[in-house]
Amino acid sequence: MNVIMTAPPVQEDLNPFHVAQEQFEHAIRYLPGYQEGLIEYLIRPERVLITEFPITTHNGTVRNFTGYRVLHNRARGPGKGGIRYHPDVTIDEVRALAAWMTWKCAVMNIPFGGAKGGVVCNPKNLTKEDLRMITRRFIAELGNAIGPHTDIPAPDVNTSAETMAWVFDTYDMMHPGRNNTPVVTGKPVDMGGSYGRHEATARGCLFCTQRALSRGLMDGLESVNGATVAVQGFGNAGSIAALLYAEQGATIIAVSDSRGGIYSRSGIDPTAAVAHKKDTGSVVGLPGTEEISNDEVLALECDILIPAALENQIRADNADRVKARLIVEAANGPTTPAADRILFAKDIPVIPDILANAGGVTVSYYEWVQNIENEQWDEDEVNTKLLQKMTRATDSVLDMQETINGSLEDIQATRTKLGRGSDPVEKIDLRTAAYILAVKRVADVTLQRGIWP
Ligand code: NAD
Repeated sequence: MNVIMTAPPVQEDLNPFHVAQEQFEHAIRYLPGYQEGLIEYLIRPERVLITEFPITTHNGTVRNFTGYRVLHNRARGPGKGGIRYHPDVTIDEVRALAAWMTWKCAVMNIPFGGAKGGVVCNPKNLTKEDLRMITRRFIAELGNAIGPHTDIPAPDVNTSAETMAWVFDTYDMMHPGRNNTPVVTGKPVDMGGSYGRHEATARGCLFCTQRALSRGLMDGLESVNGATVAVQGFGNAGSIAALLYAEQGATIIAVSDSRGGIYSRSGIDPTAAVAHKKDTGSVVGLPGTEEISNDEVLALECDILIPAALENQIRADNADRVKARLIVEAANGPTTPAADRILFAKDIPVIPDILANAGGVTVSYYEWVQNIENEQWDEDEVNTKLLQKMTRATDSVLDMQETINGSLEDIQATRTKLGRGSDPVEKIDLRTAAYILAVKRVADVTLQRGIWP
């Protein structure tokens, strides 16, 4: 009798902080010289704040909310990271997002560390007034844990320039008589926000994609001009990415949001999709398009796939179905380590989040500089500076990949000599290259400063 063996389902740990740890631990294999205590310090957040607070909602009921603020690392500058409002926010998600901010700021070589915040709430069931009260109460609870030179929030999922205005106003009420504008970035332009910040995350994605393609990352695809693109998530990062890539001659064949996706092989007009989402709450139903699921968006045949929603979208159970030639991570943490391995084996490069979506924090840094100087730069100046930074960071990551892949034997020999394991080190992907660059920069500054006291 023949026994048919079926493979057991792949069990994958989707805890975002475990994912961030696994990525870090993989990268550190290629940096054998650092002491274990330093590595342990770099992997863990410096400070974790959890706060419980009530508000009276629009219908008169008192409701309690949980908020988190995590400061991961401040070796290279004040903590920097967005605030997310979502029902699925967890402390481990915020810990992961804070760590990714540390590595992202280091990849970009901007003088910030990493932080992140979140409130467990569903903005879809709350009024604007509720959200304003949640924001004010959350910021008041954080007290001096945030500040222009200690930890600087910004927008993230379901928070906007308007939310940042409330953050500023609350902090300013609590610290009167001084210039508090640099305490938060992503503010409205007429109250200290930077021109170009709203589009910066997506523009940064475009700039690093263009640079990587111009350096020959993909055979036969030298530019986004003429490329077919699918975008998962149609908020700040995703919708503006669709608009900017289309402006550069790409054909947007699919976009999606939390309610589902739309597809058109001949191309979707992103401006029409934005207007349709504004009118109806979703991209689904845009005339001239076919409805598809979010899973189908990820599996479409296209040149570039841009995940721009949430974590853990491309996993062990679906990475094999990805048919895109290149992935550009506008979202934080959309690809799991197991999926990374599958994509690498399939020769599908992933421009990782800590590079691809770093345009947002880079222009946040420019906003902070403008606020400290009481200046406001033109949008052209902001975009020119962003282009330079994204180009330089993309080059550094691509160069690091080449350097490491060309010195595997030496790294192996050092690992063996230092007793760091004799299992072979293998060729690295772009995520690992970006991590190596970032971890090295943060570790070196930590050592230059000297371990205190
Ligand atoms: P947003 O709230 O503006 O938009 C999120 C979008 O994702 C919405 O369209 C929502 O409908 C969609 N979405 C949610 N769940 C989905 C699902 N399961 N499938 C498909 N779509 C889904 O948020 P944002 O600011 O655009 O952030 C999106 C991602 O980009 C996040 O990972 C965030 O951390 C990252 N990011 C944002 C910025 C920024 O400046 N806003 C900067 C860097 C990284």
